[in-house]
Amino acid sequence: MSRLDEIAHNLRVVQDRIRVTCEKAKRDVNEITLIAVTKTFGVEDLKLLYSLGLRQFGENRDQEASKKCKDLPDDINWHFQGQIQSNKLKSICSWANCIQSVDQLKHAQIISDLSIDSPKSIFIQVSLDDPPESRGGVDPAKLEELAFQITKLPGVKIKGLMAVAPADNADAQAFINLQHIHTNFKSKFPLAKSLSAGMSGDLEVAILHGATHLRIGSSILGNRVPL
Ligand SMILES: *Cc1c(COP(=O)(O)O)cnc(C)c1O
Repeated sequence: MSRLDEIAHNLRVVQDRIRVTCEKAKRDVNEITLIAVTKTFGVEDLKLLYSLGLRQFGENRDQEASKKCKDLPDDINWHFQGQIQSNKLKSICSWANCIQSVDQLKHAQIISDLSIDSPKSIFIQVSLDDPPESRGGVDPAKLEELAFQITKLPGVKIKGLMAVAPADNADAQAFINLQHIHTNFKSKFPLAKSLSAGMSGDLEVAILHGATHLRIGSSILGNRVPL
């Protein structure tokens, strides 16, 4: 099987999982944005994904992504979803259309200053870990205040919330909590309609609990070789 056939097959399986789950959840499949998480994979794989129609790519390292995007068409929507370092933000803002992993006001301020001419889409990352914030993301108890401060910044637009399920918690409870946090959040920040949750192993439970953006890596591209 060629690499193109392999990726095309994997992509169909993922799209079927999304479609079946949307039917079960009585949700419109067009509400779901599939982001192919392309970190660690070479630019040839990204070109294959592009040829299969994908236009949303997720990366978590600035150096890697800023190189890859030079070799790809410019109608791709690039998502940065890794841990943010202040000194990398200038570069990240030069290629990322959306920054999914904002969890500190000081980072949002830098992004805003860099994006005054064309405000940057961001998600606020919420921690679902116990104790909170152990792997990035803001403590849910501090989310509203952070978002309130961020709404004052002219160069960023909060699209929604992003979260990663706790490593040791495969059941639905984390996603139930997250949906509750997001519903409450939208009542205060009505423009923040999106919820980025769901990876290869948990996309079904994420869709059942309101995810609008899925970040899928290994189910489409196979196992990553550790860097
Ligand atoms: C790597 C990564 C993903 C994709 O994970 P898979 O299990 O390969 O689908 C999604 N979200 C974040 C934040 C990641 O770092």
